[in-house]
Amino acid sequence: MLRDHLRECGVVGAGGAGFPTYVKAESKVEFMIANGAECEPLIHKDAELMKHFPGEIVAGMKLMMEAVGARRGKFGVKAKNRESLEAIRSRIDGDIEIVELGDFYPSGDEYELVYAATGRLIPAAGIPLQVGCVVNNVETLYNVLLASQKIPVTRKFVSVAGAVRAPKSFWVPVGTPFRDLIALAGGASVPDFACFVSGIMMGTLSCNLDEVVTKTTGGLIVLPRDHYLITRKDRPDEAKHHIGKSACDQCSYCTEFCPRYLLGYEVMPHKVMRSLGFTATGKELWNQMAELCCACGLCTLYACPEDLYPKEACDRSKADLRAAGIRFVQQKPVAVHPMKEYRRVPLAQLRKRLKVEEYEGETPFVDTAVRPAMVRIPLKQHAGKPARPAVSEGARVRKGRTIGRMEEGDLGANVHASMDGTVRAVTAEFIEIESK
Ligand code: SF4
Ligand code: SF4
Repeated sequence: MLRDHLRECGVVGAGGAGFPTYVKAESKVEFMIANGAECEPLIHKDAELMKHFPGEIVAGMKLMMEAVGARRGKFGVKAKNRESLEAIRSRIDGDIEIVELGDFYPSGDEYELVYAATGRLIPAAGIPLQVGCVVNNVETLYNVLLASQKIPVTRKFVSVAGAVRAPKSFWVPVGTPFRDLIALAGGASVPDFACFVSGIMMGTLSCNLDEVVTKTTGGLIVLPRDHYLITRKDRPDEAKHHIGKSACDQCSYCTEFCPRYLLGYEVMPHKVMRSLGFTATGKELWNQMAELCCACGLCTLYACPEDLYPKEACDRSKADLRAAGIRFVQQKPVAVHPMKEYRRVPLAQLRKRLKVEEYEGETPFVDTAVRPAMVRIPLKQHAGKPARPAVSEGARVRKGRTIGRMEEGDLGANVHASMDGTVRAVTAEFIEIESK
C-alpha cells in the first residue's frame, strides 16, 4: 500500500512544512493539487525540478491521486516558467490539468493555491482537506514515486543563489553542511556574508556554515553581511517590537496588502501592532487578528513604509494566544476582498523592495555526485515527534538504511542514512555519518 511505503521511506512535505505525506495519502478528496508555484524571491529549484524530472513528478502525482481517490489533478505552475510548464504538460493526460499562475507573491500559499485551482476558500484556520483538496509540493511527488519503489528519502534538491560565483541547483545528501553547498556554487563572491535558508520571506537567517540540509531545505540565498535584509532580520525581537511601539502610525498598509486579509480572513496586522502599545488593555482583542496569519512576511518586508515588523508582532501575538489557551475563531463568512486582484505583489516589484534585483537569475540544474566528508542527519526534520535512533556509534551503514524510526501510531517520519559510511555520533537530536 502506498501509505505504508511513504511512512517507511520517510516522505514528508519537501516545500517547507515537513508534514508526513502518508497522512495525506490516507485522506479521500476530490482534487489533488501539485504545488509548483515557488514564489520565494531568487529560489528557482522547483522550476528546475519540473524541467528535468517531469515524468517522475507526474507519476508521483498519479500515485497520490489513486491513493486519495481524486477525480482531478491540478498542477499549479507559474506561466513565466515556460520550459517547466511545457515539460509537465508533455507528461499529463485527461485527469490532470495545469493551472497557470501569475508571477506574484505568495501564490504558493496553500490557501491561495487552493483558491486559484478550484475557486474554493478553505475555512478560517482550516486545511485543504475541508474543501476536498490535498496539496503536495512537486518535490514531494518525486519522492512519492521513489517511495512506491521502496527508495527512501536520502537526498534533497536545493538551489544556491545570491552572492555566489556560480548559482545553481543540485541534489545533495540530507545532512550536508551549508559550507559544502556554497563551495558547490563556486564559493561566495563576497568575503563576509550570511545566508537565508529556504527563502528571504519565510526562511531563517543563518551565519553558521555547519548547519545542514534537511528534507525541507529549499536552498540558500547568500547575501553580503551588510545587506539591508540581514541588518533588518538580525535585530533582536524586543528591539523590533520596541520600534513598532513608538513608530507605527497605524497607516494600515500592512493590512491592505496582507494576502490572507485580501482572501477574506480576519488578519489585520495594523491592529496587532496596537497590542504593542496597549499592554494593559485591548491586547487580547488585537492579538486575535494575528491568528490566521500565514507568516508570509509581506507586511514587514514589502508593505510597511516605516520598515517596522508587523509580521513579527503577529508571531508574538500567536505565541501569546497559545500560551493563554485562546483560539480565535472567525465568525464572519470568508469572502474575497473586491480589491484582491489589484493589490497582488509582483515578484519583480518585491525583489526591488528587498534590494536583491541584482541577484535575480537562473539557477540551472547540474547533475553532480555530491559526497560530503560528513553528514549530520537530524532526527526531527518533520512535523510530529522526532524519530528514535536505530543505529549505534561505530556501525557501518549503507545509504538508505533506516537510522531513525517512528513508533507505529506516532506522527512523524523515519530517517535514513544519506550516504555509505561509519556512524560517528548518535544523540537524541541527530546522527553523524563519516564518509569512510
Ligand atoms: S504598515 Fe507599518 S506603520 Fe502602517 S500600520 Fe502597519 S506596521 Fe504600522
Ligand atoms: S505575515 Fe503579514 S502579510 Fe503575511 S499573512 Fe501575516 S499579517 Fe498578512
